[in-house]
Amino acid sequence: MTTQTILDVKGLSTTFARGNSALKAVRDVSFSVREGEVLGLVGESGSGKSVTLRSLLGLSRRYGKVSGEVRWMGQNILSLPERKLRPIRGGEIAMIFQEPMTSLNPLLTVGVQLTETLKAHTDLGRAARRARAIEMLDHVGIPDPASRLDAYPHQFSGGMRQRVMIAIALAAEPKLLLADEPTTALDVTIQAQILDLILSLADEMNMGVILVTHDLGVVAQTCENVAVMYAGRIVEQGPVRQVLRAPRHPYTEGLMRSVPQDVPPRTQLYSVPGTPPGLDACLPDAPLRRAARM
Ligand code: ADP
Ligand code: MG
Repeated sequence: MTTQTILDVKGLSTTFARGNSALKAVRDVSFSVREGEVLGLVGESGSGKSVTLRSLLGLSRRYGKVSGEVRWMGQNILSLPERKLRPIRGGEIAMIFQEPMTSLNPLLTVGVQLTETLKAHTDLGRAARRARAIEMLDHVGIPDPASRLDAYPHQFSGGMRQRVMIAIALAAEPKLLLADEPTTALDVTIQAQILDLILSLADEMNMGVILVTHDLGVVAQTCENVAVMYAGRIVEQGPVRQVLRAPRHPYTEGLMRSVPQDVPPRTQLYSVPGTPPGLDACLPDAPLRRAARM
């Protein structure tokens, strides 16, 4: 089966002015994403991952100088005026961030935020938007979705807020999701659940994903291809197994020391096997299996 390339990035560079000098945050970066593909983008903090994602959506050009090509469905969207880019951003290409509180509006109910997205990016009427909003909350695993429409972001736990953000991002059925460290702020049990959710929805919708993380273990378990960023450049990219088996860049090699080896792509995320011991079992050193606060 051949799948279509939906995003093709060529020679993308983003430079910010810093006093008299220039900070080259992204340097001549090229990569592509196919329909339904999950691409991992890894690299240490400050290596340019977030700026790369923001540059794809035309957000970095507000603060810096962006050059190169970002071909979306064959069209270079970097050359589009803001007016024409807006329906693509949030509609065809959605983005979710590390900390949902910074991208959810604390003053609006989640129902309003969901239906705003639907209003902006679909032709659905009022009643259909409400129905779709409920369906999306249900889809991301929020119990009693109809009544939760009227709740505000602060009335959800961290994991639930992240689910709300995913519901909003995916409401308009984007073809590509930019996920910028979407689980870093969450505790480990919830991280795995949220990642599983993102990846199973992506699979269901045949949506491409760029998954930014500093965790090569996550990439090994979830992505088909990986690009490794270092100081603004992609220093290594290719099929995950190939890159992990024979890293060519010293930075990748360094990253890998802390990562489980030989994990095939799209493997279920690791979870503690077996059933937890009864509370009366006498196992002083056994790790406690934390109940998911979901
Ligand atoms: P990360 O890989 O951790 O996501 P970033 O892409 O956020 O890294 O940042 C890359 C570099 O660009 C950092 O040095 C950061 O300080 C700088 N940077 C990011 N956004 C801006 C901005 N709007 N103006 C100036 N410098 C920025
Ligand atoms: Mg970042």
